[in-house]
Amino acid sequence: MAEPTLAELTTLRLGGPPRRLLDASTESALVAAVREADDPVLILAGGSNLVIADDGFPGTVVHIGTRGIEQREEGGRVLLEVQAGEPWDPLVARAVADGLSGVECLSGIPGSVGASPIQNVGAYGQEVAATIAGLRVLDRAGGQVQELEPEAAGFAYRSSVFKRTPGRWVVLAVTFALERRELSGPLHYAELARALGVRPGEGAPLAEVREAVLGLRRGKGMVIDPADPDSVSAGSFFTNPILDEAAFARLEGRAGEDGRPPRFPEPDGRVKTSAAWLIERSGFTRGYGNPEGIAISSKHTLALTNRGGGTTTELVALAREIAAGVRERFGVELMPEPVLVGERWP
Ligand SMILES: Cc1cc2nc3c(=O)[nH]c(=O)nc-3n(C[C@H](O)[C@H](O)[C@H](O)COP(=O)(O)OP(=O)(O)OC[C@H]3O[C@@H](n4cnc5c(N)ncnc54)[C@H](O)[C@@H]3O)c2cc1C
Repeated sequence: MAEPTLAELTTLRLGGPPRRLLDASTESALVAAVREADDPVLILAGGSNLVIADDGFPGTVVHIGTRGIEQREEGGRVLLEVQAGEPWDPLVARAVADGLSGVECLSGIPGSVGASPIQNVGAYGQEVAATIAGLRVLDRAGGQVQELEPEAAGFAYRSSVFKRTPGRWVVLAVTFALERRELSGPLHYAELARALGVRPGEGAPLAEVREAVLGLRRGKGMVIDPADPDSVSAGSFFTNPILDEAAFARLEGRAGEDGRPPRFPEPDGRVKTSAAWLIERSGFTRGYGNPEGIAISSKHTLALTNRGGGTTTELVALAREIAAGVRERFGVELMPEPVLVGERWP
């Protein structure tokens, strides 16, 4: 029998064999598996934000398959306590169908509930941190199961304490606080508001928001679809750079005839700009790369895709080439969004 590889468990379909693979389908089995495993340990759920080396993983991979959702009402809000292995998008679909607002703009994101706090998943103006009311975690530093307040998770743009200290935390369950409302919260993402025919800042019916988000995402290859080769990716490969005012002014200076780089003010006074804008103006077009290996998606400059015969080495090489091109053209450092396992950056 062929040795199983982690490519079978990642959306990029990349990654060599693990030394050992354990499946955990209950919370207690998950805690026991992680406690007993020797280092190194890799937690893997949907495999949609992982880039795993061609050599595989020289330790124990714990594959999370826990299930269960408990619902209760508290202080006018609906609390959903959800096991880590529950798939994310069906949870969003259920919330929307039940008239619960808070996660509708996060429709169509692949992966698991337990991974959603790891990089504080976000899309179309919403971030999951805004609805997380609590987390149950295993802290591998002390081996204890703990209930964490959301403040302890240090949520930031595509980041959290869990992502910043890899290997320490296992998210066992997440509690979301949703509001019973027919309309979504204010829609701040211009492209989404336009698609729904509302002004930015207005709300729209939950089901319509979900459908509009799914439509926009499909157009960018950002919904996993076996019929869409552009969805064989880890989503956006680079985060949007956040620059201080001086660095943003330098970027504007270097942009010259390319026009003004997109400018999204952050609450801390810094400025977020668009990685896709920088990549496109550094000469990388959709489809760039190897049509039978690793190439930029034909629908979205930010996604690197495996066209079937790619390798992780080839993927990381293309990512480095793009980052070097952007560094040379604009002096801005791009950082990968997915978690690299067995590969170094830059
Ligand atoms: C087509 C596509 C579109 C995407 N669109 C978006 C998007 O719009 N917005 C966005 O934010 N992301 C997006 N992503 C990225 C990805 O879907 C999310 O980051 C998702 O939350 C990853 O979930 P997962 O279960 O697949 O995690 P995995 O890939 O299995 O793991 C990701 C990381 O989290 C860790 N991890 C996973 N589960 C746990 C746990 N329970 N406890 C501790 N650590 C854990 C892993 O060790 C790893 O470091 C997209 C990906 C794809 C393929």
